[in-house]
Amino acid sequence: MARLVMKFGGTSVANIERIRNVARHVKREVDAGHEVAVVVSAMSGATNQLVAWCREAAPMHDAREYDAVVASGEQVTSGLLAIVLQEMGVNARSWQGWQIPIRTDGSHGAARIAGIDGAFMVERLQQGQVAVVAGFQGIAPDNRISTLGRGGSDTSAVAIAAAIQADRCDIYTDVDGVYTTDPRIVPKARRLDRVAFEEMLEMASLGAKVLQVRSVEMAMVHGVRTFVRSSFDDPDAPQTGKDGLPPGTLICDEDELVEQQVVTGIAFAKDEAQISIRNVPDQPGVAGSVFGPLADANINVDMIVQNISPDGKTTDITFTVPESEYERALKVLEDKRTVLGYAAVEGARDVVKVSVIGIGMRSHAGVAAQCFCGLAEKGINIRAITTSEIKISVLIDSAYTELAVRTLHSLYGLDG
Ligand code: ASP
Ligand code: MG
Repeated sequence: MARLVMKFGGTSVANIERIRNVARHVKREVDAGHEVAVVVSAMSGATNQLVAWCREAAPMHDAREYDAVVASGEQVTSGLLAIVLQEMGVNARSWQGWQIPIRTDGSHGAARIAGIDGAFMVERLQQGQVAVVAGFQGIAPDNRISTLGRGGSDTSAVAIAAAIQADRCDIYTDVDGVYTTDPRIVPKARRLDRVAFEEMLEMASLGAKVLQVRSVEMAMVHGVRTFVRSSFDDPDAPQTGKDGLPPGTLICDEDELVEQQVVTGIAFAKDEAQISIRNVPDQPGVAGSVFGPLADANINVDMIVQNISPDGKTTDITFTVPESEYERALKVLEDKRTVLGYAAVEGARDVVKVSVIGIGMRSHAGVAAQCFCGLAEKGINIRAITTSEIKISVLIDSAYTELAVRTLHSLYGLDG
């Protein structure tokens, strides 16, 4: 017997027929003797509609009322799934965030989970009752409903799994696992059987949209084994594939990885913009005075390149920001022009960040050189580079996205 959290996303609960399908997945695990807590998203499109209504009602609305509105999508699906389960003869009840309770901080609209008291829910699980939890929501210190930011029900699921010490958190979604890269760009992309937490964190941060980044952070911190699988699989098919698991990807501690590859995946993020500041005085404190105001404006800077100046007087600084913050970042720099004393600011929005990820890099030399040579052979120019222990990122013209991703995918032997 195991204790499981099963999470179903919006497309998996898009209508009553699909909710019935979800219920069959749940019933299978209950019949196998497991204790089950289910976490659901709102029906696909529902949250978008609720958000749109808030904006239409008033563009500058109260964030607490926004939360009251948008949290309702998950309330609906949790109740519906409990009804369908009961109708199938499965003992089940719905739980809203405040009933468990899932305590969050006070940042309405983008709250962080502060703590979950799972005791009451666990008691019910032990009595054989399925808990159907509304994802995405909790209760803030002001005693009002809060939501966790878009895509937040993944985080709800992992957090609940940690709180009730579940053996695994199964994320049922509209894809059957995590791939070496986006299969829409590289048809030869392969599903990974296992990925280390750290690698998944990089992949999610860099554009693999399977899981909300924060949920991966949470899984890593609490060591929650997280399994990504398709909700469209036949619920009654045998569940014993590789390692006794059905097709999918297990996100786990690196000790659990079986075959260790140097590179695990290639990710890319198109929503980047590049900004270059020309001829800033090369003196102590200059980087601080450039990036300080950007940080104050809450603009997240990612890649940073600064040259050693040939004459010791001025230098160039290049960095990237999210494309959505591009205009705002330019404005901040313009406002600081006299203080910073630069000659010019240039920018580009048609850039993409392509990243090579793998924990195997820690112990292998030459991985970066291979990447640069491979891109050079295809005539792709690199604008900026950053690296970490397990990742190499290059900024290139977005026109070369597909070519670069495909080239690197074959280069590192990832083609299936
Ligand atoms: N329903 C919420 C959203 O669409 C939360 C989620 O699905 O994860 O963002
Ligand atoms: Mg999602």
